[in-house]
Amino acid sequence: MSKKAEQLDKIKADILLQNICPELAKSSTQLVFGDGDPDAELVFIGEAPGKNEDIQGLPFVGAAGKFLNEMLEAIGLKRTDVYITNIVKYRPPENRDPLPDEKAAFLPVLRSQLLVIKPKIVVTLGRHSMECLLPGLQISNCHGQPKRYKGQVYLPLFHPAAALYNGSMRQTLIDDFMKIPPILAKLTK
Ligand code: URA
Repeated sequence: MSKKAEQLDKIKADILLQNICPELAKSSTQLVFGDGDPDAELVFIGEAPGKNEDIQGLPFVGAAGKFLNEMLEAIGLKRTDVYITNIVKYRPPENRDPLPDEKAAFLPVLRSQLLVIKPKIVVTLGRHSMECLLPGLQISNCHGQPKRYKGQVYLPLFHPAAALYNGSMRQTLIDDFMKIPPILAKLTK
């Protein structure tokens, strides 16, 4: 196992040791920590696991995940090339929005994951992960625009679940997604 994979495993184990969000832990099936390459240049951050994610223990494996996989393929990437996680690591009951204190409780975990992975770009999916990492921004104004904040490049995107059944938002998300390769190329130069 690589050093980064070991470090991520330790962060995962610490969630249980620290008993973060015990009520969500109790009402959900299992922890959904993250999936993909610990050495990825791109990290995608969603909101919280849904029903399928809760069952499988993996992020973005339902309808939104299928759409995310298709967009990754369109830019020549597979899921195994990137790292995918969520702000909140347990499924909220009935898929309700994660509460502010749940997001705050998991934010140090997310920051630790990013410190280990050291991605070139952090792609936030939807308003919840954007607001946690890029405070004060409005998703409607800044989607698809790379932002540098405290030394990290971010790309805020709409959430694939929100865009899935909304024609114009869906196209905007696809168009924004296509900006990833040129941004990455610029950062790798
Ligand atoms: N929506 C999310 O925000 N995360 C998932 O893992 C699945 C759907």
